[in-house]
This record gives sequence, C-alpha cells and structure tokens, in this order.
Amino acid sequence: MGEECARHGVKAIQLVGWNDGGQDQGNPSHDPDPRLGTFEELKKAIAEIRAMGVKLILFAKFTWADRATAAFRDGLHRLAIKDPYGDFYVYSGYQYQTATQFLDINTKRLIPMCFLAEDYLRLCEAEFAKILDLGADGFLFDECLHHSPALLCFDESHGHRPGGPVYANDNLLIERLSRIAAKRAPDFLFAGEACYDREMAVYHLSYHRSESKLHLPVPRYSLPAAQYMTAITGFDDRNMVAQCLMYRYIVSYEPFNFKGRLGDFPLTLEYGKMMDALRTELRDYFWDGEFRHELGARVESGGKPYHPWALFTSAKSHKPGLVVANYEDEALEIRAEAEGSALSTWRLIDDPAWQGFGGSIRIPARSCVVII
Ligand SMILES: [Zn+2]
Repeated sequence: MGEECARHGVKAIQLVGWNDGGQDQGNPSHDPDPRLGTFEELKKAIAEIRAMGVKLILFAKFTWADRATAAFRDGLHRLAIKDPYGDFYVYSGYQYQTATQFLDINTKRLIPMCFLAEDYLRLCEAEFAKILDLGADGFLFDECLHHSPALLCFDESHGHRPGGPVYANDNLLIERLSRIAAKRAPDFLFAGEACYDREMAVYHLSYHRSESKLHLPVPRYSLPAAQYMTAITGFDDRNMVAQCLMYRYIVSYEPFNFKGRLGDFPLTLEYGKMMDALRTELRDYFWDGEFRHELGARVESGGKPYHPWALFTSAKSHKPGLVVANYEDEALEIRAEAEGSALSTWRLIDDPAWQGFGGSIRIPARSCVVII
C-alpha cells in the first residue's frame, strides 16, 4: 500500500483498525493487533513506508473504554464519566458488517471516559507513547469531537468539582500530548474527526465526511485557512473531487471504506490527481487565496441562481477565481459574472486546455470548471 501511494503521489496513509481487536474494540488500548504481526513488525513497516516518502498516520481513540474488556471491569470503570447516581454513561456502540452485530447480539458498548481525571489523562499519555514508539508521523483522533451521551461528570474521586463539564479538557489533552511529541517527533500531526471550532486551536487538521449535494462548508467559514480533509469513497467520485476543489478540502481516498487499495478506484484516483495538479498550479487562488464562497460573483443557470460554486480571491493578484461544479448527470449551461473584475479564461479539471471565457460555459455532466 505504501508503494502504491508513493507511485501515485499520495503523501500520507491513515492506518485504521490496527489496534488490538480492530476499530472500536479494546479502547482505550493502542496496542497493535497481534493477528497482524508484532509491534516490531508494524514499526518496521511504518519505517519502510516513511522511507518511500509517504507519511504514516495512525487512527487513535481516547474517548471511550470498551465495556467488554477485563481492563474496564478490573479498574478502568473508576475513570469513567459518572452520572449523579454514580453510574457510568453508555454509548450504544456501532454495528458494522457482521450479522451478529446487525442483530445487536455482540455490539461493543462504549463507555465515555473522564478527561477531567488526572489518572485518565496520564493513561492517555502512556497510550500515546505507543504511537510515538511505533514511529508514526501523526494520529487521527476519531470521535475527538464528543463524549456522548455525557455532558457532566459527578465522580467525586476524580479530583474535579461535582458536575464537572466533560468537554473542558478536550484541548488540554492535546496540549499535553503535544508537549510529549515536541521532544520526540516535533512535526507530529494532530488530526481529529470533525473538530469543533475551539478544538482547532490545538489540532492541525480536521477530517469529516461531506458527501451531500447540499453540503455547506461551514467550518471553512469559521476558519478559512484551516486544513480540512474529506472522505472520497466512490468508484468514479468526480463530484466529491470537485467538492474538494470548491471548498479547499484535502482528499482522503477511501476505497471500500478504509479496506481497499488506491488501485481499486482508478477513475476516482486519476480525477483526483488532475484536480490536485490544477490546484497546485493555481494555488495562489485555490489554496493560498481567500475563500469567499458565494460572495463577489453571480452564477446563474436557466435564469436562476446556480449552486454549487465558490469564489476565491488570489493571494497574489487579488483577482477572483471561481470553481463551478455540475453534480448532475446531464450537461448544463451556466452564466458567470464577477464583481469589479473580468473573468477571461476557464478550463475543466480533466482537460488542461484553457479556453476564452465569453460569459457562459456548458459544463459536462459530473464535471467541474475553474474560471479566472
Ligand atoms: Zn470525572
């Protein structure tokens, strides 16, 4: 997989399901699954992948304890978030792809753990050290955005006030892990899932899934220059590639929902590579420029306002650059006009030829144009 990424210019792998038991099993343990090899073997594989110029990001999760583990029964329950009656909260867990899980026979129940408890923060630090020991370039902390269904912790043995707000130390945890990483891996990437705005003070990147025609880039409004990454899962997923260009999202290729290889969806991959090449060529607009979404221009189709599109202002020339996507299965005609600046040339993601812009463009089905 590392070789495949290197060959296609994909710069990083997020490794999911590497922990003992697989995703959402055995939390908060970050020991490798022995069925996949030893700790040393994983460490060696990571080093080999890094030597190819591909970074290796490990999936991580500190939010829960897996209720079904001896570790939880034998002591970790002490550090779980407690309700006013002294009981821990229970998150109903996830039913993935086995019949017994769909029937809810053996679904793992996940118990939200208390980040206000010093002992739990220390345990997270010890688990984090394993990720550093493996030589990873970063982690993606899945479900860092919540502690559902808990809001307050009433456990008086945790050292916080009764009814302590359990989101309060979300940033402190990352600050503490950053201090450890600063000594051992100063470039360590702290990525999180769908980080809420305040978390972006400590995370470098937020990952979300936005595969909807109606998706609104709200995080991009709050933090225009932040790094956001979105999932691309389809076998010819031109529309999600277009969305990445339009909203300045990093592409996360996910053939077979993390279980495939890049080569499993060549159409998506090739289109994504063309988009990234275009975005690199015009990075003063579509990467370094100011995201203004639907301000500063008018885009219409059939005499009505058209969506989706986005305007960026070039960091160099301050001139407008538009991205207009056609998510539909049929070609359509759009008219575009920028305020106070003439648009003169356009091209498709998958056709490098620039064409003169005369006010309107016929965009082929499931295609995307830039107009500058
Ligand atoms: Zn607590």
